[in-house]
Amino acid sequence: MTRAIYLDHNATTPLDAQVLEAMRPFLEEEFGNPSSSTHAWGLRAREAVLESRAIVASILGARPAEIVFTSGATEANNLALKGCARALARQGRGRHLVTTAIEHPSVILAARALEPDGFEVSVVAPDSDGTVPPARVEAALRPDTVIVSVGAANGELGTIQPVEEIGELCREHGIVFHTDATQAVGKIQVDVDRCRADLLALSAHKVYGPKGAGALFVREDTPLEPLFHGGGQEWGLRSGTLNVPGIVGLGATLRLRAAEMEAEGVRLTALREELWEGIRRIAPDAGRNGHPGRGLPGTLNVAFPRIEAERLLQALKGFGLSAGSACHSGKGSPSPTLAAIGLDDAMASSCVRIGLGRDTTSDDVHEFLTALEKAVRRLRGPAPPGAPTGMGYNRGPVPG
Ligand code: PMP
Repeated sequence: MTRAIYLDHNATTPLDAQVLEAMRPFLEEEFGNPSSSTHAWGLRAREAVLESRAIVASILGARPAEIVFTSGATEANNLALKGCARALARQGRGRHLVTTAIEHPSVILAARALEPDGFEVSVVAPDSDGTVPPARVEAALRPDTVIVSVGAANGELGTIQPVEEIGELCREHGIVFHTDATQAVGKIQVDVDRCRADLLALSAHKVYGPKGAGALFVREDTPLEPLFHGGGQEWGLRSGTLNVPGIVGLGATLRLRAAEMEAEGVRLTALREELWEGIRRIAPDAGRNGHPGRGLPGTLNVAFPRIEAERLLQALKGFGLSAGSACHSGKGSPSPTLAAIGLDDAMASSCVRIGLGRDTTSDDVHEFLTALEKAVRRLRGPAPPGAPTGMGYNRGPVPG
């Protein structure tokens, strides 16, 4: 194996060359501050931000005035949960939030950070396939529930959530619905009206845009307090000089992704299934985590029983892979998401996440499978006496 093959597109993605070209002027000669309305430099920057805002809004089925640019989804999730919870509390509303056990830390920890201020957080467990059942969300609601936060698609498992139903039930109960759509926007269709979202977070770098750029959709009239105070940019909801190149990159990438989303979804789904079939041939006891039907096109999370994922990753160093989520790997503790779907520590530490992307080819998948076969044989060692055939044990000479 000589070629390095990146298979961790859920952690981040390479910058699309066309996106870089769109950004380039704003990293070079177009350095104006969009808040400067007295000269051409500022006006051109403002124009670029307006255009990007319009693109982001139209992709989500929102209005431009409902888009607040942020430094990414971590900030967008924090602004959504803390900003909205505090604003509602100031109005004398309740202090109870509902979220799930498989949210990104920027959701779960932002919610937890409200607890010292008297907020309470209920955490709903997913099904074993990573689906958050709307009935379980409904059962967690209380008269003082003010916000429900459920991610649109899970970055570790790929499971796509029934956000339409969850959003609908929030609307029926007069509860603000926030969804972290970081792993969904640009990969699958996301419409703020269809999923009845009041707040929706997204990020550019998961879909071939720049790091450090994202947005929060804020439905009109949703109570929200800023986290940052300052120059009053973004309707006072996010002070700070706008990251013009990042914002331009976000708009450019979402426009490109929208144009190719359908075809790319079909291609990646086929590639993912080809990969899974190959893995099953190599290790018939491998388990697939996440919902097989309602999953992100490029995401495959696999348990290789009796193999430590960290060792497997070591054996497959030439491939960019992750054991669980990038945010958790290296911490030595199993991912809370894998625990939440019912995997014990041993099984959770045998899981590998493979994230295919727009640069992944069928050749890449085959090259990966060849290397995986060798690695699995080597790590499992010889079959114990009487072991059934085809369990991924090494039955011949250890391949090189
Ligand atoms: N939410 C989800 C589901 C994510 O996967 C990530 C990135 N790991 C984030 C939020 C945070 O996004 P950002 O890197 O833009 O802060």
